[in-house]
This record gives sequence, structure tokens and C-alpha cells, in this order.
Amino acid sequence: MTKAVLERLKNKDSISPSFKFTYMLEEAIPGEFVKYIHNGDPRPILEPEEAPKEYELAQFLCFTQHLQYYIWEGVVFLSDYQGAGDLLTDPQILTNSALGEDLFSLGNLKEGFECFEKRHICNRYCDWYELEPFDINELEEEEEGGSGGESVRAPTSEKSGTVEGGHENDS
Ligand SMILES: [Zn+2]
Repeated sequence: MTKAVLERLKNKDSISPSFKFTYMLEEAIPGEFVKYIHNGDPRPILEPEEAPKEYELAQFLCFTQHLQYYIWEGVVFLSDYQGAGDLLTDPQILTNSALGEDLFSLGNLKEGFECFEKRHICNRYCDWYELEPFDINELEEEEEGGSGGESVRAPTSEKSGTVEGGHENDS
């Protein structure tokens, strides 16, 4: 802030209306607003029976999280996916706490990042891209009644981890 502006702020009588009011405008988002993934949990908020179309999109967004997590080697991914129609808005960047605190606002939930490997459930998009499932998935263990720390889903392959190229499994 320049010295001249500071002087004007000290003398309130000389402040123009632009200094008294702040307006924030956002693009109107028509259509039904849908929250797909919360920033504290990398699973779809929606239930497949209640909103199958939206759930399918949420599954794809979950896959993009896994892809980001893979590409950035467990350092960062996007969350808080929401929007209407084909417009997503107001995402949250989640970062590994090793990068430091106070990054990307209060929505960068430490627990939201740290639970990713345990709570992300690979889906058909992950499978198609040949992303490796994480060793421990607490949700799958809960569903199967397991209590140990063993993997309940074997890695799909021993390859180097590239995500390029096609895949014959189009299920
Ligand atoms: Zn996955």
C-alpha cells in the first residue's frame, strides 16, 4: 500500500466510496449444485443408488485425486469437488504437512490429506489407468470385517508405475 493511500485512510473524510465498500462478484452457476467429494474424506459424498449419474462423476473425480497423488508423489492433490452441470468450482488444494503449515487456507485439512491412502477406494478409472491401489485401505477392511493391517487388494502389477499408454481392461 502506498504512502499516499495510507494518508488517505488516516483521514476518513477523504476516503472515496471505493475504500469504504468491497464487493465480491462471482459467476452465477445455473443448475443444481452438487457436492461430490469433501476435503476431509477422499470418498464420494453421494450414494450410487440416490444419484447414479453424479456418483459416476464423483468416481472419476476420486480417480483424478489418485492420479494427482501419484504424479506429485504424495505431496499434493485437489479436493472439495463441487459444482453444477459441467462446471466445478471452489476446489481445495490439500498438501502434505511436510511442505509446512498455513498453505492454501484453512480448508487444507491435515487429516484430509493424511487419510488419503487409507480411505481412497480405487475404482474402474484407477484400474484402467493401472494406478496401484494402496497397501492398506481401512474401508475395505471394515467392509470385509478384517482387523489386521494386511492388504486386501493385491497390486495389479509390478510395473514401474507409468500411467501412460492404454489398457486392455475396459470394464
Ligand atoms: Zn485409485
